[in-house]
Amino acid sequence: MTVLYWLRNDLRLHDNAVLTALPPHATALLPVYCFDPVAMGPDPYLELPRTGPHRLPFLLETLADLQQRYAALGSGIHFVVGRPEEELPALARQAGAEAIWASAEHTTEEWETEDALEAALSPKVPLRFFETLTLLRPHDLPIPVRSLPYSFSKFRFDVFSKMTVRPAEPAPSQLPPLPTGFTPTVLPTAAALAAALGQPAPVGRLRDRRSALPALGGGETAALARLHDYAVERHLIGRYDDTRNQLLGEAFSTKFSPWLANGSLSARQIWAAIDDYDATHGARSKGAMQLRLELLWRDYFRLLALRAGVDFFRWRGLRDQLPKPINPDRTVFERWTQGRTGNVFVDANMRELAATGFMSNRGRQNVASYLIHDLHQDWRWGAAWFEHQLIDYDPASNWGNWKYIAGTGTDVRDTAFDVDQQAQRYDRQGRYVRTWQQP
Ligand SMILES: Cc1cc2nc3c(=O)[nH]c(=O)nc-3n(C[C@H](O)[C@H](O)[C@H](O)COP(=O)(O)OP(=O)(O)OC[C@H]3O[C@@H](n4cnc5c(N)ncnc54)[C@H](O)[C@@H]3O)c2cc1C
Repeated sequence: MTVLYWLRNDLRLHDNAVLTALPPHATALLPVYCFDPVAMGPDPYLELPRTGPHRLPFLLETLADLQQRYAALGSGIHFVVGRPEEELPALARQAGAEAIWASAEHTTEEWETEDALEAALSPKVPLRFFETLTLLRPHDLPIPVRSLPYSFSKFRFDVFSKMTVRPAEPAPSQLPPLPTGFTPTVLPTAAALAAALGQPAPVGRLRDRRSALPALGGGETAALARLHDYAVERHLIGRYDDTRNQLLGEAFSTKFSPWLANGSLSARQIWAAIDDYDATHGARSKGAMQLRLELLWRDYFRLLALRAGVDFFRWRGLRDQLPKPINPDRTVFERWTQGRTGNVFVDANMRELAATGFMSNRGRQNVASYLIHDLHQDWRWGAAWFEHQLIDYDPASNWGNWKYIAGTGTDVRDTAFDVDQQAQRYDRQGRYVRTWQQP
């Protein structure tokens, strides 16, 4: 049996249901990564590349690492620039593949690509999806996804309490070889890729010494090193609840998000590390509990996206509520993107984002609230800017959090933050603002 494996946001060997499902009689495997010009190209709101200056190099680092890890197991990766529905059917024919396997995504644009691919494939080559991106498999829920509660607390207490997180699956020790006639292709450089996608050449990733991200780079090797360092070497899970709202340094929160977003780290692997932490330290610490809760929020947004479909990305609320009136003004919006609003706390956060592709959760909540509730701009512009800038962009977490802060999520309460009060509380000495005073 020959399988074409369409690599998506599952760029790892560990806990990968696609690889685990390969039968012993699989004779060949063709792992293919498509640089999709639509998924990476301009967004409809700001017309900026969705995979922007921070995420593109991080993705390439991730793929370079994965290529090496595949090679060590006797396999390799075939890279193509093009739409999956145009590239994969021809490759499947050439390889003599009997099936295409991939990880399931949970958001509408990704479904459109899946539908287009299915339509372009011969019925003799079935397309099969595996759940690899969440802690919980949507099919394991004790209720149908269409009945998912529109309240995180209700989800947590009524649904999650009846479930268990399946254990993380081990990485394979060997992979089937590439099909006859295939050799691993060369990973394109950022400049070559930008040229092929018709985008401006990237300036290259310079590490800002003020960055809150650990200096590890992309890929599964770095992700597992960070997990080990955070959970085992430095026991930081125990302190997580006390530090997670801080703003400076690499240790205040896990910084797992960039690896989680492209799947070089699995949420279930983190869950297992928390279990180990609890087992070693003898108690269910507050930090461990809080970290589990954050991972559950990540799943909740994915499940909500799955339930809401296209409504998840719409201007109106999930309960059909209307956002507050806006006064759209591109100059006001651009000043926000550049960290020139005049509010020093907001500006510091926006400068950190532009310089590093990362911003703390506290920062994200405040700058989003400021754009929506103080500057009265369209929340979807803010979400599109984050999509372009964030190194850890994830469609469900990004659009779900923005929708929530715009008051158009599952909550009907006023979700505005008092940004000045927040700055006082979380940056009392002004250290964060001083750190990011300069762009
Ligand atoms: C406006 C806005 C946009 C956001 N956009 C994204 C995004 O595109 N990608 C993304 O991964 N997160 C997003 N978040 C959620 C959160 O800010 C980041 O996950 C977190 O700051 C990443 O840092 P960390 O890994 O150190 O998080 P930690 O505090 O260490 O949390 C551990 C993990 O839990 C998950 N998590 C934590 N908080 C949230 C949350 N509020 N929603 C969903 N998952 C959460 C993340 O996977 C995170 O890596 C957004 C939040 C806001 C308010």
